[in-house]
Amino acid sequence: SIVYLNGEFVRLGDAKISVLDRGFIFGDGIYEVVPFYRGKPFRMDGHLARLKRSLAAIRIEGAPDTQEWDALVRDLVKRSGLEDSLVYLQVTRGVAKREHGFPDNVSPTLFAMVSPFRRPGAQQRSQGMTAVGMPDERWLHCEIKSISLLGNVLAKQHATDAGADEVLQFRDGYLSEGSSSNIWVIKEGKMYAPPRSNLILEGIRYGLMEELAQETGTPFQARPITQDEVAAADELLVTSASKEVLPITQYNGKPVGSGRPGPVYAALRAAYDRAIDAL
Ligand code: PMP
Repeated sequence: SIVYLNGEFVRLGDAKISVLDRGFIFGDGIYEVVPFYRGKPFRMDGHLARLKRSLAAIRIEGAPDTQEWDALVRDLVKRSGLEDSLVYLQVTRGVAKREHGFPDNVSPTLFAMVSPFRRPGAQQRSQGMTAVGMPDERWLHCEIKSISLLGNVLAKQHATDAGADEVLQFRDGYLSEGSSSNIWVIKEGKMYAPPRSNLILEGIRYGLMEELAQETGTPFQARPITQDEVAAADELLVTSASKEVLPITQYNGKPVGSGRPGPVYAALRAAYDRAIDAL
């Protein structure tokens, strides 16, 4: 398949970078994942705005501007010929002698690839996911979409080792997020989520879910959520570019609510599908 590397489209096998790249050496970079449906971008503006925020947060300069990214990503998807796809974008601080401080006169390493997107199917939608809780052991800048993902990798493996699909992480007893997803709690017809802060990555689906809650008449409140509230939820939902919105039907080995996907999920799921169909 074709990938983009530093201004050129090349075959994946021909895309090579230096071992001194600061992404490889320090995890010094940021990334994005943008979904495409039927060859059309979904919420790309939000993704590119977040990319810009991530770059500013870690002070990487000299990357393409939003318009250039937009054209580049569309070009890559067109070249791939894929209908439903996920575009991965990564920017690292570049190649330099191994010193922790920012190097002078370095240009960022730019990389993009596109993969087929197998959307969550009927089985996942009807059975839902399983999740287990664990302490959030990550750093204090989770709002940056950093490629330094060791905490998230270990969290996901914790789920896998427990035979579950995802983890719900808790910081000082309060829900933060999944290993690569945002989490939504439904109680008595109302939806709750942890507020936007440095402790979570604000998913592009965070704002989308607020819109879909409005559209479906689901009252929504962003506020801190305790472990007990999660354990007593009527429904738990997970969102990300690749999971879209899915129900968590089992948490810490116990059924969530009825143990079946609930009515708020059904309404939001339908609204999400309509948003995709409207592209
Ligand atoms: N939190 C984390 C830690 C993530 O990795 C992701 C996936 N990018 C999300 C939340 C959800 O973000 P989005 O809706 O933009 O996919």
